[in-house]
Amino acid sequence: MRKKLRKILLFFGLGLLLLLAWIGYNTGYIWRDYLSGPPVRFRENREIVVGLYPRGAPVAAVFTSDDLSAVTPLEVVERLRVLLRELEVRGTFFVIPNHLGQYPLSAGSPTVKMLEQLRRDGHEIAQHGWAHYSEKNRGRSVKMGAEMAYLSEEEQYQIIRRGRDLLTGLGFPPRGHRSPCFSGNRRTFRALDRLGFLYGSDLDLPPTTPKTLLLPSLPRRLMYPYHPDGLNLLEITSQTDPTVRPKKTLKIFRRYRKRGGVFAFLTHFPQISEPGNLARLERIIKFLREEGVWFCPMAELSEWWLARAEVDFQTGREGETLIIRWVNPSPYPLNDLEITIKDPDMKFFRLLPGEGKEPRQGEIPPSRSILVDI
Ligand SMILES: [Zn+2]
Repeated sequence: MRKKLRKILLFFGLGLLLLLAWIGYNTGYIWRDYLSGPPVRFRENREIVVGLYPRGAPVAAVFTSDDLSAVTPLEVVERLRVLLRELEVRGTFFVIPNHLGQYPLSAGSPTVKMLEQLRRDGHEIAQHGWAHYSEKNRGRSVKMGAEMAYLSEEEQYQIIRRGRDLLTGLGFPPRGHRSPCFSGNRRTFRALDRLGFLYGSDLDLPPTTPKTLLLPSLPRRLMYPYHPDGLNLLEITSQTDPTVRPKKTLKIFRRYRKRGGVFAFLTHFPQISEPGNLARLERIIKFLREEGVWFCPMAELSEWWLARAEVDFQTGREGETLIIRWVNPSPYPLNDLEITIKDPDMKFFRLLPGEGKEPRQGEIPPSRSILVDI
């Protein structure tokens, strides 16, 4: 009897272990970022620490707004635009080129004039699918708006290209794309990559459901931008809507701040312009400002990240002078990058940039940090 019991316990124990290993495998992308930290070539050595974001900001935040289309009431857009201008926040608007396949944006229309105004305010105009609708979803367990869910790579390529051409024809060549209802998948990544998009923001945070735990997910990251399947395309995961889930937003933000993540939060038209939502948005933006975030549109963040991930540093000493050399293999500059000198005995610094640039030298300030353009 005792032998039998032992056998049963062993059997269940092994089963439980296997189940836990399977869950660990499927959710690896969730805890990976917590273990690895930011995937950049150089963070620090014995002599210096290099900031992740401009002016040493501890975390990046991207305001994004989805669903602006030819049918969005313009007074709704204007209310948000005015608030963002007052708060001095520049963000990214993911625009639907041809809402429901029936309402294309057209040259000279009031909506396009509004897009021009948004761009003058410093915002980025990016692409949100094509129609935000797919007939292929009928009778399936996804929203009709989840446009990319059941489309082949070729179908996605064609509609994204049509949307891009339409926006480009209106004077807004998009550099970034967000899949409607975050319906992006591997086929979307490949289509965007073939079309030469700089970045995609096609997935959001995974829901905490048994499906998340038990089914394998796309290879991805949550906290830092990443190249899916080794493509050139940079993907940036979107976080939750702070006007809908303020508590969850704050919890996520605190984790990201601690680890230098990218906190890309989303809002939707027309809900965002209801007075209560605008007030909540204002509160969260002010809070993020106090936390020292770097706010920027997603294309800017992508360029920064591509350069920051690859830049490499070497240091050496000459008496009391610290010599700092670097290589930035990307085509993008890193302006106001913060270098902090660790060794308290060093009194001077000398920066030796690559060819064609003047070396710079000086006394290390009491803050022990200097800002450089790379
Ligand atoms: Zn949408």
